[in-house]
Amino acid sequence: MDINELYQEVILDHSKKPRNFRHLPQATHHADGYNPMCGDQVHVQLIIEGDTIKDATFEGCGCAISTASASMMTEMVRGKNVTEIQELSEKFREVLVEGKEHEIGDLEVLCGVKAFPTRVKCATLAWHAVIAAINNSAQPATTE
Ligand code: ZN
Repeated sequence: MDINELYQEVILDHSKKPRNFRHLPQATHHADGYNPMCGDQVHVQLIIEGDTIKDATFEGCGCAISTASASMMTEMVRGKNVTEIQELSEKFREVLVEGKEHEIGDLEVLCGVKAFPTRVKCATLAWHAVIAAINNSAQPATTE
């Protein structure tokens, strides 16, 4: 199995069995994200104490890439502080959109979408939405 097949397996696993896919009634922060290019919708809910993310969940429906990305996002943001998440989100965007090289941990598996600009928006949607949630934005985050 080469690295791309391995990455494909990870994406499929997350999209079929999304982690933290549930309502979070005690959420202190939440926001919607929408990717009109593909029709992906995501609702991100967070519990933030001080500036640390204590819990993160998502709901919504979207393609395999957007679901896998949201699932991974909820796992990665837990325990991190707001600044770390903003930095990671920006690095992920720079890797996918500007072709820069950064250490982005598990998000590496999603970098295959770089070759497909419309799929880049599927991959980044959850990260737009988590930033909007941190800001408790009433406006949905869009990928446009
Ligand atoms: Zn999509």
